[in-house]
Amino acid sequence: MSVGVDMSHSDRSIKTQLMQNQDSQDVQLQNVQLKAQFNRLLTNAHENQHKLERFEKIEFKLMAAESIEQLLLIIRDEYASLFKLDDCTLLLEDEDLSLRRLIPKAIQNNESSQFLTLLNFPVELEKLNYLPNQISTGIYYMAKHQWLMDNPRVESIAVMPLIRRGKKIGVFCCGSYDRNRFHVHAACDFLQRLSFIMAVCIENALNLERLKLSTMTDALTQVHNRRFFDQRLPEELARSERSLSAISCLFLDIDHFKSVNDTYGHGVGDSVLCQVAQRIQTVLRTHDVLARYGGEEFAVLLPDTGNDEAMMVAQRIIFAVNKNRIVIDKNVILTVTISAGVSTLTTEESINDSFNDIVALGMQLLSTADQALYDAKKQGRNRAINAGLLALIEPVECSQEVQC
Ligand code: GH3
Ligand code: MG
Ligand code: MG
Repeated sequence: MSVGVDMSHSDRSIKTQLMQNQDSQDVQLQNVQLKAQFNRLLTNAHENQHKLERFEKIEFKLMAAESIEQLLLIIRDEYASLFKLDDCTLLLEDEDLSLRRLIPKAIQNNESSQFLTLLNFPVELEKLNYLPNQISTGIYYMAKHQWLMDNPRVESIAVMPLIRRGKKIGVFCCGSYDRNRFHVHAACDFLQRLSFIMAVCIENALNLERLKLSTMTDALTQVHNRRFFDQRLPEELARSERSLSAISCLFLDIDHFKSVNDTYGHGVGDSVLCQVAQRIQTVLRTHDVLARYGGEEFAVLLPDTGNDEAMMVAQRIIFAVNKNRIVIDKNVILTVTISAGVSTLTTEESINDSFNDIVALGMQLLSTADQALYDAKKQGRNRAINAGLLALIEPVECSQEVQC
């Protein structure tokens, strides 16, 4: 009996011992698990801290950008490299085509990068409109995402709508060749904040450009005004000096324009001015500078253009203005002609670098073209007269007339 009792006591103590051992192992295991969890949280916190610092860095840069050009370059180059993106694209709503004038052509037409797309076709605008307002992340599907990012190597994508006052002004997309980088459950808090800041910065920068442009645009013809031309002249001369290329200037004046006003009134005169400006513009390249310099006078700067080529441009303008008659209405159909003076500066010999010298040289280039225009008027109008190369660099060649 007593033996039986002793055995049962011993069993119990072994059992207790085993249970205590088990408890201690459980506690140890829990300890290890908690430690691992704590380390994961700590690593996460560190990673988030780094992420936050990188986001803050880029956000400060976006807010400090002084122009739309600078802003877009920060988004395109700095953001992409800071976050090691394999691709990034920005699509902006441009229904009224105004952004094409506000954003520098070099960013719009960069062949090496598909970064910027200006959305103008109704089908594109509709797609933008139908994008969800929230950020979406996940696998890249060609059929679904190609219009946002045309890159078959991309495996995952983050699509961030840019919203201002309840309206989508565009969408910014980040692409990765890693399928897990922008997975469906990725936390989007930082991206949400970034997309908000990006939208505000883009809108502000565009508004600033709009304001700048409005002070530099001729209200009637919508081409640049004299203020813009005078500002660009020394800039373009300095640029041509740096690239050792020639630059030419055309001075244009509509022939007998006063008689248009006298015969048909100022309203018709205004329409003629607008149509002539459009016709001149069609002949020019995107980086040429056209301005309404005064009443019925236009000035054109042709960067990277030698004298012979500039004469050809002048002739093409004369032809474009005169080729088809200008139709105001069924009763008023006019034949309009224009005269041109052409001057060129080659930079084979160095321009003196001081800003005042460059401004003076610009004025000389312009006044030489104006003088040639005066000759064109004297010699019968509807023609271009070549003043040749500027005397400062090489002696002025004998004026040669080209009858159009
Ligand atoms: P030319 O062939 O010698 O250049 O003769 P022109 O008649 O073109 O030149 P003139 O300088 O005698 O007259 C220019 C006219 O352009 C006079 C002016 O009223 C008119 N003009 C200037 N600005 C505007 C404008 O904004 N709208 C209209 N309708 N006319 C303008
Ligand atoms: Mg005139
Ligand atoms: Mg005139």
